[in-house]
Amino acid sequence: MRFIILIVILLALIGWFQRLKKNVGRDRSSSNDSSFYGAMPGSAALGPTAAEAMVACTHCGMHFPVSEAITDSSCAIFCGSEHRRLHAS
Ligand SMILES: [Zn+2]
Repeated sequence: MRFIILIVILLALIGWFQRLKKNVGRDRSSSNDSSFYGAMPGSAALGPTAAEAMVACTHCGMHFPVSEAITDSSCAIFCGSEHRRLHAS
């Protein structure tokens, strides 16, 4: 009788360990998907574009990155040389 009880307890423990292993594996894979693989492309995409300041064209009012800005002698900002010429005339 004691032998049967021991077998039942052993089987229950084996089942419990197998379930625990599966859950840990699932948790690791899901956390990798959301944090590691999820954060990498997002941070890479946000990096240069989010950091760059935006300015508005004096002529048409369009917003564009400050690195593409063209200024005239009065420090007015334009989206291109065409709008700088049109604004001057
Ligand atoms: Zn413009």
